[in-house]
Amino acid sequence: MGLGSLFRRNKNKKEEETVDCHIDINAQDCDGCEKCSIACPNNVLMIVDDVSTVRDPQVCKSCKVCMAICPNDCITVN
Ligand code: SF4
Ligand code: SF4
Repeated sequence: MGLGSLFRRNKNKKEEETVDCHIDINAQDCDGCEKCSIACPNNVLMIVDDVSTVRDPQVCKSCKVCMAICPNDCITVN
């Protein structure tokens, strides 16, 4: 009985974890076209001084839409 409740607790804990997302933007190749910031469904990216910038990595869901849409292959999402 004790073990069973322990496993259930661990499963619930795992489901509550936030997505571990890491976003790399190659600022050298970014031309500030805004396609990534417009396409991101979670409003993670914003353009600052004509370069895409991560506004809030906590809300990134690793969907990789930004990677797919960037014409210059600037973005890598792990
Ligand atoms: S991976 Fe998805 S959620 Fe994360 S920044 Fe790119 S488009 Fe936004
Ligand atoms: S889509 Fe690519 S080139 Fe355009 S702003 Fe985003 S990172 Fe920069």
